[in-house]
Amino acid sequence: MIQQIDHLGIAVHNLEDSIEYYEKALGLHLHGREEVESQKVRTAFFEAGDVHIELLEPTSPESPIAKFLEKNGEGIHHIAFRVDDVVGQLKQASDAGVRLIHEVPFEGAANKLVAFLHPKSTRGVLTEFCQEKK
Ligand code: ZN
Repeated sequence: MIQQIDHLGIAVHNLEDSIEYYEKALGLHLHGREEVESQKVRTAFFEAGDVHIELLEPTSPESPIAKFLEKNGEGIHHIAFRVDDVVGQLKQASDAGVRLIHEVPFEGAANKLVAFLHPKSTRGVLTEFCQEKK
């Protein structure tokens, strides 16, 4: 079951410049930073109430984020729903005819299990499911 929006993923060219914007211009609190090697990104998390803002900077030209930036420039990259059962949620989407990017969840940032639905079958919104690891 979907519990709430967990975070918005935002693709940026430069993490440090972007952190400065979120801290100084918006007054948000930097909650943490992490490098996710499997996705070739550096991330920084801010809290806006219960919802996080996840900044994503590519660490390699092969990063999916580098490709996104090339195509679209900076901006909202994905929306992530917090779920209690990521495998069940993937099955529900798949059964409804949605194309999955990941058939099997992997370990994302903040010690969560995550998987993505393909934006071609989600009306243009790259959609992530994330589940707290127990
Ligand atoms: Zn995310």
